Amino acid sequence: MSSRSVKTEAVVLRSMRYGEADRILHLYTPHRGRVGAIAKGVRRARSRFGGRLEPFFRLHAELHEGRGELLTVTGAQTVDGHARLRGDARALDAAARACDAVGRLFETSEPHPGVFNLLCRQLALLDEQAGGPPRAASGRAGALAFRLKLLLAAGLAPQLGACASCGEREHLVGFSGAAGGVVCAACEAGSFQLGEDAHGFMTAALGRALTDVPAASEPALGQVERAIAVTLEHHAHLRLMPAAAARG
Ligand SMILES: [Zn+2]
Repeated sequence: MSSRSVKTEAVVLRSMRYGEADRILHLYTPHRGRVGAIAKGVRRARSRFGGRLEPFFRLHAELHEGRGELLTVTGAQTVDGHARLRGDARALDAAARACDAVGRLFETSEPHPGVFNLLCRQLALLDEQAGGPPRAASGRAGALAFRLKLLLAAGLAPQLGACASCGEREHLVGFSGAAGGVVCAACEAGSFQLGEDAHGFMTAALGRALTDVPAASEPALGQVERAIAVTLEHHAHLRLMPAAAARG
């Protein structure tokens, strides 16, 4: 036998039309990382999958693993459809960015159950806060706190406690992707300015739960986003879409 059945929890990261009635899905799973799967006939009106294979669904999935690269979806039960976030443009956009970040940063089959849990928690938070006034999880601060936790899970968390070049603990004024964290005034060549607020936000976000997003000004969040971007560019050759939609 060269094929077998796989049962796993999964979050649908992306769903792309394929052929006449099929979809190709990117799923994120706790123990198989990112999985590509095909759902046959899912776009027909009487598909047994209903609308369960849309992005942001958390599922119990049954997959058939054959010789090909893609697994085939043979069953799917909803754990959480996150129905409320679908009715809130801001939450929906934040969910899309969260799934995109996970899919790109963790695109292999390497297992990261912590990342799966983090994504589930972020989607549940966005769902819980949807429909109300703009809340932390769907804002830029929430998105950046989530990304910092992804960096940590990927082994790319920036050094924040001391200068990443020389170990100095005072006068930490910049951030360097090449050095891998904050840098002091003597080592600042090649870095950009990172203020105290941005530094404090990063330290706090890494130490707290996703439900407890630290506050920071827009300029400070801009510095945090840049620090995450240079870290990813330098250490993973990766660029993510902006953490939040441009306002206005
Ligand atoms: Zn230094």
